[in-house]
Amino acid sequence: MELFTGEVRLALLLFLCGLLWSLESVVPLYRYRNNKLRHALPNLALTVILLLTNFALSFSSAYVVEITERNGIGLLTLFDLSFWARAVIGIAALDLFAYFAHVLLHKSWLGWQFHRVHHSENAVDVTTAFRQHPGETVWRILWQLAAIVIFGIPLWVVAIYLILSGLNAQLEHANIRMNLRLDRLLRLLVVTPNMHKVHHSRDQQETDSNYSNIFSLWDRVFGTYTPATDFRRLSYGLDGFDAEAGHTIRGLLKMPFIT
Ligand SMILES: [Zn+2]
Ligand SMILES: [Zn+2]
Repeated sequence: MELFTGEVRLALLLFLCGLLWSLESVVPLYRYRNNKLRHALPNLALTVILLLTNFALSFSSAYVVEITERNGIGLLTLFDLSFWARAVIGIAALDLFAYFAHVLLHKSWLGWQFHRVHHSENAVDVTTAFRQHPGETVWRILWQLAAIVIFGIPLWVVAIYLILSGLNAQLEHANIRMNLRLDRLLRLLVVTPNMHKVHHSRDQQETDSNYSNIFSLWDRVFGTYTPATDFRRLSYGLDGFDAEAGHTIRGLLKMPFIT
């Protein structure tokens, strides 16, 4: 379990963030005219809040897992599964629930008030990955807890899932020009940078697609998959949310409460 401690997770995230941040200068998808560091600061502040919120609530996951394990609750406990089968099914279940959590953030009035913080970004890059209001973080954790209880997912599977989810979130937001063939190959399994960028489009039809978190499968299964877009015309952000004052840390934290 040592491998999956919070410190290791944080170290992996910082390493990938540094790597992608450098790559964004070498092979950018878009050449933004903003000051990269200045643009990153509010996003990084929200990232710190997200890490703290996750840390504060990580005890709830451990507690819920303990209760479910002690009482033999969950669909996975009904079968005599191997180590790998439990890991794969557990990870898939958590990812399916992350898909539902994300769709509801778009389809409910209250969810969208909070999720607008993520979508108001008009210069998507690696720092956008965790540009998330703490209210949305709590919502996502509740869905994780629901998956843990329904499926009886062990804590080590939850830990692996959170590492994979965090790393893929950074990759899919990175402002890097992907080789189209490689992107198409990777997205047979996972959400790629090009696939998630479609979800950040200002065009609502594109925004209402590609909700998957790690595995691209869910969008294909539920008919919400948009395979490609024209990056020469795609524009990130939300109409009505471009004013600079709204993109400070204060503005972003207040955004859900603006009607
Ligand atoms: Zn979204
Ligand atoms: Zn995103």
